[in-house]
Amino acid sequence: MPLGGRKGTGKQKAASIRTLNRFIRQLTDGLMISGCDGITCPIEKEHIAYFSMEVGISHTIPTYAGGLGILAGDVLKSFADMKIPVVGITLLNEKGYFYQTLDADGNQKEEPVQWNPHDHMVLLPNSVTVTIEGRPVKVRAWKHMVRGLSGNELPVFFLDTNVPGNSDFDKTLTSYLYGDGRPYRLSQEIVLGVGGVRMLESLGYHNIRKYHMNEGHAALLAVELLRKTYRDAGSEEKNYDLDAVKEKCVFTSHTPIAAGHDKFDLDLFLRLTGDYVPKMILSKATHDNQVNMTLLGLVVSKHINGVAKSHGEVTRGMFPEYSIDTITNGVHLPSWVSPSFRDLFDANLPGWELDPFTLRNSLFIPKEKVWKAHEDSKAALVNEVNARTNAGFHPARFTIGYARRFTEYKRPDLILYDIARLEAVAKHVGDIQVVFAGKAHPADGKGKELIRKVFSDCKAVNSANTPLKMVFLEGYDMQLAKLMVAGCDVWLNTPQRPFEASGTSGMKAAANGVPHFSTLDGWWLEGHVENVTGWSIGEHPHDAKPGQDTDVGADASDLYSKLENDIIPAFYGNRQKWMEIMRHCIAINASFFNTCRMAQQYIANAYLE
Ligand SMILES: *Cc1c(COP(=O)(O)O)cnc(C)c1O
Repeated sequence: MPLGGRKGTGKQKAASIRTLNRFIRQLTDGLMISGCDGITCPIEKEHIAYFSMEVGISHTIPTYAGGLGILAGDVLKSFADMKIPVVGITLLNEKGYFYQTLDADGNQKEEPVQWNPHDHMVLLPNSVTVTIEGRPVKVRAWKHMVRGLSGNELPVFFLDTNVPGNSDFDKTLTSYLYGDGRPYRLSQEIVLGVGGVRMLESLGYHNIRKYHMNEGHAALLAVELLRKTYRDAGSEEKNYDLDAVKEKCVFTSHTPIAAGHDKFDLDLFLRLTGDYVPKMILSKATHDNQVNMTLLGLVVSKHINGVAKSHGEVTRGMFPEYSIDTITNGVHLPSWVSPSFRDLFDANLPGWELDPFTLRNSLFIPKEKVWKAHEDSKAALVNEVNARTNAGFHPARFTIGYARRFTEYKRPDLILYDIARLEAVAKHVGDIQVVFAGKAHPADGKGKELIRKVFSDCKAVNSANTPLKMVFLEGYDMQLAKLMVAGCDVWLNTPQRPFEASGTSGMKAAANGVPHFSTLDGWWLEGHVENVTGWSIGEHPHDAKPGQDTDVGADASDLYSKLENDIIPAFYGNRQKWMEIMRHCIAINASFFNTCRMAQQYIANAYLE
């Protein structure tokens, strides 16, 4: 079966450019009056409200943990670039996710992130109230303006419960992203979903065309909308207008793992929300005494989508009674290209920022110029590695990058499965340098153990004098990610199939001409052309026997033999071919896996519905 070619269920529509333009014009008219501050005057024109538990806009606003939040930030930036009237709603997370350091044994230490919201946003006078466990909790908002390429600005509202009058505990509800304990998480979701809808109203946004839930954390927003439709008509089904709410709601799922979906014990849920959620909705979202926030989102949304073709397939399998579309993720290219690639594109492909499809033409950029731009990006990374670790990295040596959340299914240690073999490959075909980075969730013991293992393997390898050098860099954030995705020669990803919903760091690498080397999962099933945009690891899912776990040893062995036979020999021995691959990463993948295309698909397929 061709990817995404499933008949009847996919609702993918071809984006009609004319409809799209009309819609954009109609929506941009709405901006005319948003010259008002959005505090006192009603905002008549239509807006899209984009809700996300985390939003990553810049490393200086540390309110994000990783992929989910950075995706939200990236797509909001593209909406700003395209002048689409969208507003973002998220939590302040005033102590961030956490600041990561490692001790001498590689144990992760977590500290609150020190930053000052006043440096990046303004506190608004508006205040709304939500009810948690029968208590009124006050919520206020900070406004940050995301500036688009042509100067247009898009507001993101960061909700904050650290307000005089709230109890000490309630003041902490917007302190830590993904903080400790289920009651805390559910309270945060009440603030985000219910508080978010009320705050938008208080700010004067009375004409919201669609409410977009980025993952189940925001699903309670739909319950708030549903309660507004209440009229006494005799029975619960008739009292509420679920169809009207569905018209307004768009839901994006990001998790292909059943256990990864946000769930709460029914007892806890009822304790905190009382009778807030009408029974007809609650019963549909509850299984085995667990309230599943993904199910809640599905029940109330007309448009539902997964974030890569294969993830759409997996999601349809998990929720067969729903019609589930796919909109593949992207990255905001202007935020992720290195300074040297920005200069290269500016000089050779003017207009690429607002129209990234232009990058198709990168096959016509002289190869040597692409290589020169890469050398500059790589020098910046090598300098950073050497300044931080004294590992003696050299810019001429083949360098592999691996950075993402450390957790079991992502298998960050796959390349270390047989270190002796990796050293033998380096001896045989050429020096290898590896840069690792990533955080483990504070409650993910296995993830922390993986950090310890990678950290100690790095130490052991470097103390032996071999042609293999490895480092682990602390404090993975958007700034370090930007250096790494551009400065490595190959970007590695080794998740266990089919658990990677999409993945986006490989797209950031492609934007900098860096080929991807990964198991065939998530976005890579759409971006992979062997020896052209990168290389695969392990078998293709279409060849795998159903239900059979991937064989770690076989994947590792494939990884080593590709390095030995294809990748490293091309890097050191066939620079012409290597530069050709770099150009294809940009032409084939960066031109497509970007948030400009993604935003257009959300507009055409979800917001216009
Ligand atoms: C892009 C990015 C991620 C997500 O990368 P994946 O490949 O999707 O895991 C996580 N953290 C940071 C800091 C990033 O920049």
